[in-house]
Amino acid sequence: MKAPADLLLLPQWVVPVDPAGTLTDHAVVVQDGRILDVLPADAAQARYAAAQTLTLPGQALIPGLINLHGHAAMTLLRGMADDLPLMSWLNDRIWPAEKQHVSEAFVRDGTLLAAAEMLAGGITTCNDMYFFPRAAAEAFQQAGMRAVLGMIVLEFPSAYASDADDYLSKGLALRDELKDEPLLGFTFAPHAPYTISDASFGRIGTLAEQLGLPIHTHLHETADEIQHSLSQHGVRPLERLARLGLLGPHFIGVHAVHVTDAEIDLLAQHGCHVAHCPSSNLKLASGIAPLARFAAAGVNTGLGTDGAASNNRLDLFAEMRLAALLAKGVSGDAAALPAAAALKMATLDAARALNLDDRIGSIVPGKRADLVAVDLRDLACQPVFDPVSHLVYVAGREHVTHVWVDGILKLHDRRLVDLDPDDLTTRAAYWRGKLTA
Ligand SMILES: [Zn+2]
Repeated sequence: MKAPADLLLLPQWVVPVDPAGTLTDHAVVVQDGRILDVLPADAAQARYAAAQTLTLPGQALIPGLINLHGHAAMTLLRGMADDLPLMSWLNDRIWPAEKQHVSEAFVRDGTLLAAAEMLAGGITTCNDMYFFPRAAAEAFQQAGMRAVLGMIVLEFPSAYASDADDYLSKGLALRDELKDEPLLGFTFAPHAPYTISDASFGRIGTLAEQLGLPIHTHLHETADEIQHSLSQHGVRPLERLARLGLLGPHFIGVHAVHVTDAEIDLLAQHGCHVAHCPSSNLKLASGIAPLARFAAAGVNTGLGTDGAASNNRLDLFAEMRLAALLAKGVSGDAAALPAAAALKMATLDAARALNLDDRIGSIVPGKRADLVAVDLRDLACQPVFDPVSHLVYVAGREHVTHVWVDGILKLHDRRLVDLDPDDLTTRAAYWRGKLTA
């Protein structure tokens, strides 16, 4: 007798990420939201009676992409302030706009827009950091997208919270309430060394250890940030965090553009992770993170889009390609960051940074069924020698046709299943009106 299954997927190629390489004429079997089996297509059809079978000719099935750093609600600020360096972008444009407009409604609408963009582009999980994380959580749940919510902390007041303690207590209350939600996770998200005091960092370090949660913070993004730390604290930011006991396998440093070899070794020694956001770093002229040196030192690195105000796309296909090209150009080594490594950064390595690699990041039996089908039949993708190479160097998010999160279909033939693009467009226009009034 055949074994029951919810879904039998028959793509032309399966790219499991772990192990590396491509499986041809294989099936992926899904049951109860998890990957039940990966096996040759003939054997799968003999062994399983699936409620639904989907043939995906010319398509590569990959693990859902994981956006290791973003500020989802900032989609509503997309294109509002371009062509400025980080500090004037933040101080003169972004922070004043946020101060005036950011509210629960803003975050809910902006996060929903981001979730729609990310899901349509093959991103099934994001690691988010923004004000009003409760509103973000509601939006991610409405979208049915997996999200790790940052319990954001800043020293200065916003519409969301008054001081670091207030941010922290609001974040912890939310986490207490939602910690058993299957698609949600939490990190401590102190914004950056230049916006957080030693006392707050110390408290966050203690809490992170007690609760077993990651710490997610911007780090060494610009040369200015380093100078500021030297004048305020007498040491560079990373050294300061090391002295405060913040570094460890639970630590995700975002950007790490300006780092010395000794600092890269320090990150490696502590088992820290880096979220590499190459588009954002280029657009704000912050610099280029030394990816090949991270890899050589053994620093686990994932890819992030950062917010749509500094990218301006939430597009991990673009980040994979850019990361691979920059790594080669900067290191002078065309073998730096091969395609398979770039894809791994956008999937399994990011899962590892979030301590979710036992659940997501690769197409392996037992993991949750976060899956993405990428159509390589497009003329611009011909011929196909190696699907993995094409996923990084040729294909784009426009080639994503189907997306499942936890085994549930979220994108069907390039159409969002649960979210209404017209409604999202109307909401975005409403906020554009408010921001320009
Ligand atoms: Zn950021």
